[in-house]
Amino acid sequence: MSETMSAREARGPHEVGGAEARPERRFEAVIGIECHVELKTRSKMFCGCPNEFGGEPNTNVCPVCLALPGALPVANTAAIEHMIRAGLAFNAEIPAFSKFDRKNYFYPDMPKDYQISQYDMPLTQGGVVRYWLDDGTMKECRLTRIHLEEDTGKSTHAGSGDGRIAGSTYSLVDFNRAGVPLMECVSEPEIHSAEEAVGYLESLRRTLQQIGVSDVKMEEGSLRCDANVSIRPVGSTELGTKTEIKNMNSFRSVHRAIESEIERQIAVIESGGRIVQETRGWDEVKGVTHSMRSKEQAHDYRYFPDPDLVPLEVSRAVVERIRAELPELPPARFVRYTTQYGLDVKQATQLIDNVALALYFDEVVNASGNAKQSTNFVLGDLSRLANETQTPVHASPVTPAHLAELIALVEGKTINSKIAKDLIERMWRGEGSPKAIVEREGLAQTSDPAAIEKFVDDVLAANEKSVGEYKAGKTNVIGFLVGQVMKASKGKADPQLVNALMKQKLES
Ligand SMILES: [Zn+2]
Repeated sequence: MSETMSAREARGPHEVGGAEARPERRFEAVIGIECHVELKTRSKMFCGCPNEFGGEPNTNVCPVCLALPGALPVANTAAIEHMIRAGLAFNAEIPAFSKFDRKNYFYPDMPKDYQISQYDMPLTQGGVVRYWLDDGTMKECRLTRIHLEEDTGKSTHAGSGDGRIAGSTYSLVDFNRAGVPLMECVSEPEIHSAEEAVGYLESLRRTLQQIGVSDVKMEEGSLRCDANVSIRPVGSTELGTKTEIKNMNSFRSVHRAIESEIERQIAVIESGGRIVQETRGWDEVKGVTHSMRSKEQAHDYRYFPDPDLVPLEVSRAVVERIRAELPELPPARFVRYTTQYGLDVKQATQLIDNVALALYFDEVVNASGNAKQSTNFVLGDLSRLANETQTPVHASPVTPAHLAELIALVEGKTINSKIAKDLIERMWRGEGSPKAIVEREGLAQTSDPAAIEKFVDDVLAANEKSVGEYKAGKTNVIGFLVGQVMKASKGKADPQLVNALMKQKLES
């Protein structure tokens, strides 16, 4: 149910009901995703220029990334280690040998007129991305490979849209990005819906971010993705003709673009047409894909090993060191939170997407032994206070040990929930141990029946009118009477006991 809801919400109003409203699904979508991810390193892939987003055009350049004659590239070790890190995070194989190849094509944003990439011996082979859907279902999509290459420069087509000014067409090129280390993650065609595509991308993105290899910002272009989409009759195992969709600048666009392209292909087939292999651009405003260029003739990139770079021998010791350094990864954390701790999908995802908060939460659970109360406090009061004060929970004065103390006070019925709420505010303001506050100020809940009975009797005596109303059938005044007892006891009476005793006295 919730999956259907969220799928509809994500799709946008104009397409609601598109997929689900069909009486029977005759076609299955087959989707593969290619992601280009810029690696987070201090310098570029083959030179010492800073790897920074922004900056004045053509300021982060040198003879190597501008491909001046005689300049020689030197591979960036940090980028190679990031590749190994990513490979291991997705359980890929890290071959002992790897090399760089030249991919030849002419394009103005490539000063060398070739791109250093990897052809037949990439740094990682295979692997699998585990991801989850909104209903909590775990899915897997295998990776073909992740290989390392250099990013190109960036061209800006200036002028009035078509780049035509005073009768001439021109473009501006910025080489700051040329030579930035770039990984290309290629998936197998094992994704079958827009929801799955977004789930896959979310998992890929949060994993790459959490292992520290990229800042994965789509808005800055450090994560870019294309989707290969085809359809086939349900039950068929053959692949249909695919189209490649480009220009999707958010995961929401990916979702809309894939949905729209699947519907378009079904309509073409159902009206007796055929799908043409081509590259299609996504039009965010119109909500449709449009043909960009035909892919009928494959490019001949004339790959050959780059003679300027020695082949790489990947040391097993380095691989094992990197493996040992990997943190707990998002899919493992998701399974632990949902199955072991009983969190719902939204709660688990919220924590996983805020690693500092997740680590804090883990400490609270370890110290308190109570996952449910830890979830309530961390995602409830503490997250609210964090929003209000713009201070992250883990940087607040509320330590996991103190929060565990508070949970023990609540669970042991030493304090009631109202006092707990007051205490958490005071802890946030830096008042320290809740146990110490409770002891110092005598805030422990009163569960002594004699003391509570005295409070109840006093309140009943002072509120004859309400007592009369109750006896006349207006039983909801009991809430008011209980409230008076809580007030008289300064919030310390056990509300359940008060309620029970009050009811008993009113009905006797
Ligand atoms: Zn450079």
